Amino acid sequence: MIDLAKPVIGPEEEAAVLEVLRSGQLSLGPTGPAFERRFAGRLGVAHACAVSSGTAGLHLALRAVGVQAGDEVVTSPFSFVASANAPLFEGARPVFADIDPRTLNLDPEAARAAVTERTTAVLPVHIFGFPADLPAFEAFGLPIVEDACEALGAVHADGTPVGGRGHPAVFGFYANKQMTTGEGGMVALADDAQAERMRSERNQGRAPDMGWLDHDRLGFNYRLTDLQAAIGLVQLDRLDGMLADRARVAGWYREALADLAAQRPLGLPCEDAGGDRRGWFVFVVQVPPDGPPRDTVIERLREQGVGCKPYLPAIHLMSSYRERFGHREGEFPVCEDVAARSVALPFHPALRQDEVGRVAEALTAALDGPI
Ligand SMILES: *Cc1c(COP(=O)(O)O)cnc(C)c1O
Repeated sequence: MIDLAKPVIGPEEEAAVLEVLRSGQLSLGPTGPAFERRFAGRLGVAHACAVSSGTAGLHLALRAVGVQAGDEVVTSPFSFVASANAPLFEGARPVFADIDPRTLNLDPEAARAAVTERTTAVLPVHIFGFPADLPAFEAFGLPIVEDACEALGAVHADGTPVGGRGHPAVFGFYANKQMTTGEGGMVALADDAQAERMRSERNQGRAPDMGWLDHDRLGFNYRLTDLQAAIGLVQLDRLDGMLADRARVAGWYREALADLAAQRPLGLPCEDAGGDRRGWFVFVVQVPPDGPPRDTVIERLREQGVGCKPYLPAIHLMSSYRERFGHREGEFPVCEDVAARSVALPFHPALRQDEVGRVAEALTAALDGPI
């Protein structure tokens, strides 16, 4: 079986974890702040706040920009469910708008049309590592929280790294991401007061000096352990190499799928354009509308030993969202069409060129089969 995703972990991570284990300081030690400083430096932001997951980071970031119960947050229906769930944690409502058919990111025009007097934040997602059109969203004049969980290494047209614009930008370190700490996340941001609030709220609402068990506000336990931070520091050392490996694998896919895509309307990840640069996270294709259904293609790929997944489903059509908000088919046609035809192919830094070739052959055979 060709793996869909696989982390790159070596003896350096093992040694780093052992060192923390032997130090006896497993959490709230010096490794967390060291990880944060390195991460913030990489993005050129004043603060990086380590958290237990990308989801936890989204929750704290929305609180930090002031989202409250009854508010609306405009966001993308084509994302991992966490970005839409985060406003719900605060009793706020995720308001969806359709996506751009090329980039698959939230469409700024559609998002603007979804803004009401109750909108208190916009939550764009850099889906599949392609930079969302932040300058367009910044023109709304509303607080922004960026879901950058899939976009480490991506760069905006103006040269700013994704996550480096100063809005709270949330990264995730689950094992399939560009870098991993097992579970974990980081919020990059510029504002001192927002950073102070997040650091307190991830740690039970405790005051920054921590000398006193005083909790001056509501908080959570969203801390990252020193064991995880130690893995994160080693992964940062590896990051440029892993990003380059992912980009190389993506290049092999483009080559291997070129003939197929010339013969049929197969959707491929959009090319970098206008200075926007993708930080490669997944390689997702859309099966042609006139061929075998996506789920049939997935079955055939799996029969041939190719790990793959329907990725991503439209959030507004998930049962909990339908039941809670009365969403139905037809609301966001671009998102629904893309979601219904998307397949994530095996993609990770150690994928070999011959494996990419086998995936391309299997995909060709799957699409050539009976409809
Ligand atoms: C991975 C991911 C998250 C965060 O996931 P966690 O598992 O909570 O770290 C959030 N949004 C998107 C788009 C993601 O891909």
